[in-house]
Amino acid sequence: MGVDLEKAPGEYELKVTGQTASGEKISCSARVRVRKGRFATERLQVGKQFVEPSPEQIKRADEERQKLRELFDRVTPERLWDGKFRIPLDGVTTGTNFGRRRILNGNPGSPHGGVDLPGTTGTPVHVAQRGKVVLAEELFFSGNTVVVDHGLGIYTFYGHLSEIDVKVGDALEAGAVLGKVGAAGRVTGPHLHWGLTVERARVNPLQLVSLLGNSPGVQVRQKASKPRAK
Ligand SMILES: [Zn+2]
Repeated sequence: MGVDLEKAPGEYELKVTGQTASGEKISCSARVRVRKGRFATERLQVGKQFVEPSPEQIKRADEERQKLRELFDRVTPERLWDGKFRIPLDGVTTGTNFGRRRILNGNPGSPHGGVDLPGTTGTPVHVAQRGKVVLAEELFFSGNTVVVDHGLGIYTFYGHLSEIDVKVGDALEAGAVLGKVGAAGRVTGPHLHWGLTVERARVNPLQLVSLLGNSPGVQVRQKASKPRAK
């Protein structure tokens, strides 16, 4: 279960259902409290041409958003991953900007749904765990993009790639190279945009790594975007 970054604070019922090895169905439920996360807000004044995409670009971006939503709606019933999740870039232990909201010329945009990892153009991007490629194409906002299905509603997203090295349908082993870091799409410089969706909820991928472990000894640090209770 994932809690989306824009989920309203409050009490929710969490229901867990499962099946024992002998096929017996079991379930339990609990009340969970979702607290308000605090994310950075950035206010910018820029020339109109940078803020307002053309009608064609808006149409394209809307269609792509819809396509991604449909992908994330699909829950592969098998668990494809096995073991720990890793940060996709070698030697990188932190990411920034999760949940950051940019207010351009007074208009709040949607919050930043992933983390940005520092990397130079051409750096190999490794898939976080075993999975199947469900999208490998150029998108308006994220440029060359790869989305990997890990099963049970878990998807990872890799954006702004300079090069895509996989195609839809490819089965990837954990850590396989799926592309190279770049600055494709609407960005100012090369980096990897890494996103995680858990049953449609946008979750900080660094939390999955700290929960299901990076390689031992690697400490995950979260800068700036760490949610804090109010
Ligand atoms: Zn990003």
